[in-house]
Formats: sequence, C-alpha cells, structure tokens
Amino acid sequence: MKILVVDDSRMAIKMLLKTLKAHTGEEDEIFTGKNGLEAVSLYKEQSPSLVFLDLTMPEMDGFTALEEIKKINKNARVVIISADIQKGSMDRVRKEGAFDFVKKPITAEKMQDIFNKLQTS
Ligand SMILES: [Mg+2]
Repeated sequence: MKILVVDDSRMAIKMLLKTLKAHTGEEDEIFTGKNGLEAVSLYKEQSPSLVFLDLTMPEMDGFTALEEIKKINKNARVVIISADIQKGSMDRVRKEGAFDFVKKPITAEKMQDIFNKLQTS
C-alpha cells in the first residue's frame, strides 16, 4: 500500500513514521512531503491509499491541500494530524471529507484505530 505523509516539521514526520512502522512492511511505499503543494503533487503522482496531512504548513496549508486532493479523488482517505484541535478546524475538515482527525502527536492506539477503520471502509 502507498502512504503519503505531509508535514512541515521533520520531527513530526519522523514521529509519525515511527508509529506507522507497526502497520507497514517492505511491500509498502511511504512518501513524504513538507507542504500542501507537495501533498497535492505527490497525491497526483502516486495515488496513495492513505494520506496523513498536517494543517499548518507554508506554501499551501492542509485545509487547501485536502480540498485539492478531494477534487482529484473524492474518495481519497486523508487523515488530518494537527495540534490545532479547535472545533472550527475539525468541523471544516470533516465537511471537506477528512477520513479522521488526530491530535498531534499520534499515539500507537490512535494509529491502530485508523488501520482498523481502513479495513472496514
Ligand atoms: Mg505544521
């Protein structure tokens, strides 16, 4: 399975990849990007089955990237990972069709939840 992870913080990507390790193997391909523009272009290029997307990023933020990705594929599975858990932000990404919304940093339990949800979706 192809997975795309996008965050402007290298540390945040590193932590997410660590949590992801429990659910991925050699057959999986993981791509990373550092802003919304890269998220959209990598999505176009790779058609990943799952995307982890930060909200606050330079060039293009996660809200816009989510919108653009959904224009490419309305069934795209995009998990928003953000420290910004204000209700307004959560409502906005839910409306845009985010697969899930996770508070940073993601825990092993939450990652498990996401993979369970993937199996049934
Ligand atoms: Mg950020």
